[in-house]
Amino acid sequence: MSAESYHGMSVLWYTEWLSPHEAHVHGILELVFDGHTKYQRVTIARTGSFGLALFLDGFAQSTEYDEFIYHESLVHPAMITHGNPRKVLMIGGGEGATLREVLKHESVERAVMVDIDEELVNLCRKHLPEWHKGAFDDPRAELVFMDGKKLIEETKEKFDVIILDLTDPVKGTPGVLLYTKEFYEEVRDRLNPGGVMVTQATSLRYYERAFAVIYNTVASVFPVARRYRVFVPSFYSDWGFVLGSLGRDPLEVPREEIESKLTKLQLRYLDPEQYRFLFAMPRYLTERLSKYKEVSTLSNPLEL
Ligand code: SAM
Repeated sequence: MSAESYHGMSVLWYTEWLSPHEAHVHGILELVFDGHTKYQRVTIARTGSFGLALFLDGFAQSTEYDEFIYHESLVHPAMITHGNPRKVLMIGGGEGATLREVLKHESVERAVMVDIDEELVNLCRKHLPEWHKGAFDDPRAELVFMDGKKLIEETKEKFDVIILDLTDPVKGTPGVLLYTKEFYEEVRDRLNPGGVMVTQATSLRYYERAFAVIYNTVASVFPVARRYRVFVPSFYSDWGFVLGSLGRDPLEVPREEIESKLTKLQLRYLDPEQYRFLFAMPRYLTERLSKYKEVSTLSNPLEL
């Protein structure tokens, strides 16, 4: 962080490196929290452009202005593809907004959220109430603090939908092994018949290879795999997601069913028209993505 003057206004600047050649410099109006938990550096700041924002290890996780675009796009395609999810597991999702979106589905009876970082979740609970909107106190919600990989290895419970809302696989951070083939196999084995999993899959602009490799990896484990994307202004990029299904293909869910579910949910971003756009991929991107053939494994994990 640095203090510099712009047009006579003295502001604090927070530099987020998007690639070795590009950075997003956020003008900070108020630094709400900046410190280290056991697992990561946490910065919560009020930015001039995007309102309150959460940064982990220097990377924006979500902002007040557009967090709903990311969280609605992460959660609802998997829930709608499943059709009637009763038990949902979320791995990661510190801010509580993924849990908030999951709980909007009336079919949900039990929603388990496991995050490795209890201190971070407590900070989000305190400083980002607009994200969780009380979701942590919903009687259907259960919060567990442990490594998601360990939980998947140890639990005997099965779920209808599993949502991976993890930090990007940046070398040395706790999410790296949760983007591997072996991990997705364990996730698959914790799904009920017809189960669906979805993972956030990084930036299509800045981590094109990572997006492609995550898709290849999910596709090597699930009979149905689909990749999709949405533009998130504060990320300056289309953001990627990859869905794996043991049952329905998201592209074969009847249009009327999608429309009636979305109408009921009354979301801020995803209406039937935006939903259709999610899965569209322009030719230049399909071509670029097809260059990458690798799969992420425990012995050779994808690392940014
Ligand atoms: N929206 C995000 C993005 O753009 O990358 C991800 C959101 S969320 C803040 C990421 C969460 O994943 C954090 O709360 C972090 O503590 C959690 N996390 C990372 N590694 C984990 C692991 N191995 N097990 C459980 N949670 C993990």
